[in-house]
Amino acid sequence: IKCIGVLTSGGDAPGMNAAIRAVTRAAIYNNIEVKGIMRGYRGLIFDEIIPFRSNSVSNIIQQGGTILKTARCKEFMSVEGRQIAYEAMQREGIDALVVIGGDGSLTGARILAQEHNIPIVGLPGTIDNDLNGTDMTIGYDTALNTIMEAVDKIRDTASSHERLFFIEVMGRECGYLALNGAIATGAEAAIIPERMYGTDQLGELISQGFRKSKNSSLVLVTEGDITGGAMAMAERVKKEYPQYDVRVTILGHLQRGGSPTATDRILASRMGAAAIDALLDDQRNVMIGIQNDQLVYVPFSKAIKKNKPINENLVNTLKILSI
Ligand code: ATP
Repeated sequence: IKCIGVLTSGGDAPGMNAAIRAVTRAAIYNNIEVKGIMRGYRGLIFDEIIPFRSNSVSNIIQQGGTILKTARCKEFMSVEGRQIAYEAMQREGIDALVVIGGDGSLTGARILAQEHNIPIVGLPGTIDNDLNGTDMTIGYDTALNTIMEAVDKIRDTASSHERLFFIEVMGRECGYLALNGAIATGAEAAIIPERMYGTDQLGELISQGFRKSKNSSLVLVTEGDITGGAMAMAERVKKEYPQYDVRVTILGHLQRGGSPTATDRILASRMGAAAIDALLDDQRNVMIGIQNDQLVYVPFSKAIKKNKPINENLVNTLKILSI
């Protein structure tokens, strides 16, 4: 491999810059040329490709967002679009790609690799922690810390006014942010997509009268269609328990931003360097994951499989600690 392209795609996540830096520096260290591709797959199709040097990635490890920008690119969803992307790679002399993004981005990478026989390595870049085969994704720890700080503040007002708060966090089909966010803030409960089937999580809370001994309650709720979101929870409680003073806070996009935590910077740095090792090792179509602090190669097909299992131990811990 003489030249790699690096891109960030899908939703941005803190630590993506640290990953771009690590990929770039590890490649240059191994005498591999690097090209930065702007705006995810768009940059391949619309030819926004920049030669990267070591100092192209100076002073970014501490920055949130992504210097390569990110985008959702519908042209890349078609065979014709991916053909254009492939031709751009050939023209630019790019013989392998490192794709940093979520499950959609890695799905696209997998299809491109299959159609054109290109080595592609993925890095899990998403705050949702919803990729299989990795204990953590880049951005997840920072988002969790942001949630923790926000919920701590909401707790002050919740307890002063003796209110019940439903706080909506990101995660879509994955409850890790809500569950670990709840454990970290001492919240009453987390309502997560993984437990929507066969259990009425809100019903259980209602039947317990929330915590009778307590004058305020915090419940974290994963956004999205599966749980219905915090607003729907609040409406239901208002109907069944008019005596509760119920409020809703949707944390929204503040969860995506900010300077990455040390954990995310180190994770992104290790994974970025591992992506280059993987390519030199003739690995292709794998995502770099971390399991028990060991970097591992996870085939794309496994990484993007829906329904990452939730850690039941965490569910139990939250339950025990919120009596
Ligand atoms: P996040 O989890 O933060 O939303 P993501 O990577 O899952 O990130 P998506 O919007 O799902 O974000 O995907 C990003 C881009 O990846 C899409 O805009 C598209 O260019 C490409 N992509 C996604 N799914 C496919 C697919 N099935 N085929 C080809 N390309 C795809």
